[in-house]
Amino acid sequence: MEPILPGAMLGLLGGGQLGRMFVMAAHQMGYQVMVLDPDADSPAGRIAEQFLCKEYTDQTALQQLGTRCAAVTTEFENIPADVLSALASYSAVSPNAESVAIAQNRIAEKRFLQTHGFPVAPFAVIDKIDCVDEVKHLFPGILKVSQFGYDGKGQRQVSDADELHAAFVEMRSVPCVLEKKLPLKSEVSIVLTRGCDGAMASFPVVENQHVSGVLDISIAPARIATMIAKQANDAAESLAEILEYQGVLCVEFFVLEGEGLIINEIAPRPHNSGHYTVDACITSQFEQQLRALCGLPLGNAAMHHSAVMVNLLGDLWQKGEPEWLHVIKQPLAKLHLYGKKAARPGRKMGHFTVLGATVDEAFASAREIQQQLESV
Ligand code: ADP
Ligand code: MG
Repeated sequence: MEPILPGAMLGLLGGGQLGRMFVMAAHQMGYQVMVLDPDADSPAGRIAEQFLCKEYTDQTALQQLGTRCAAVTTEFENIPADVLSALASYSAVSPNAESVAIAQNRIAEKRFLQTHGFPVAPFAVIDKIDCVDEVKHLFPGILKVSQFGYDGKGQRQVSDADELHAAFVEMRSVPCVLEKKLPLKSEVSIVLTRGCDGAMASFPVVENQHVSGVLDISIAPARIATMIAKQANDAAESLAEILEYQGVLCVEFFVLEGEGLIINEIAPRPHNSGHYTVDACITSQFEQQLRALCGLPLGNAAMHHSAVMVNLLGDLWQKGEPEWLHVIKQPLAKLHLYGKKAARPGRKMGHFTVLGATVDEAFASAREIQQQLESV
């Protein structure tokens, strides 16, 4: 494709914090952005040149986005795949609709991974109540809704047929995946970018720690054997090739006791576990998203510092605005707030990243700041 150069208007489906950071990267390089999001107070919509506060399926809004933007991307995987196909008739769209369709549906995702020989957790599709008897080998397991789950929402641990039955009914009998609960040694992810010419640049592997199903801390680089990191990177790159992917892709992995590697899920966009790249890498995941979208050469994805990223959830606001000076006073810490007004428990309000000469240094400092913020 002809490169899309600074000054152009770019379209973005979704106006959350990932979108906001994309808009910031685009602004830095002199691009303009038009955001589509049904939320009137969306973090990205508020800072974009143009904000269409409409449903993702609004045909007039899609036409406006498609005709006025040189290229359109997404920060949100639950965009109906036919919306991306419709947009593609007006303007360049990446990532492609097929990749988004796979990533937004756990059943399609698991089947796709299995078909192409990638290791996934033992699973079964649960889409009617009488499946329950055939899945005893998956207990104890985790029942996950196949669509619209995030941050551990839409999941229940189940240890026998009765619990599975009850959980399925509680999920309103929507199609689900039952996965065997695996003994995890750690969780890691890879964020990579694939350009329109097939060139790829992977960020270092990140280690992720979750609390109550929500990402709490990302540690970069991951404290895993070089062999495992290479295996994860090779898997992510071959996935991107198979999908003919253009854009930023995140692949989440489970590292099992005994070092086996399983693909958990994929996200067709920048990822929370890649936020450290903004402060610790030569090029951020959002700048890479822009470069891939615009058909530009990719930036260098190398890290210049080890880094630990800590999510700031709404729970922290229970006693009022947190004491930000705990973060700001550390010269190697970077505070990011998304400008969301309502601080609901579990809601991602911001994050901070602490740089360090070593991962251990960054980790110790990040934990100390986290404890200070929580102790007020
Ligand atoms: P989400 O879309 O909410 O991120 P995930 O499928 O990634 O959903 O699950 C959230 C977290 O739950 C994972 O990061 C992991 O900590 C835990 N988890 C999910 N599936 C399994 C499993 N099969 N075995 C063990 N832990 C799991
Ligand atoms: Mg996940």
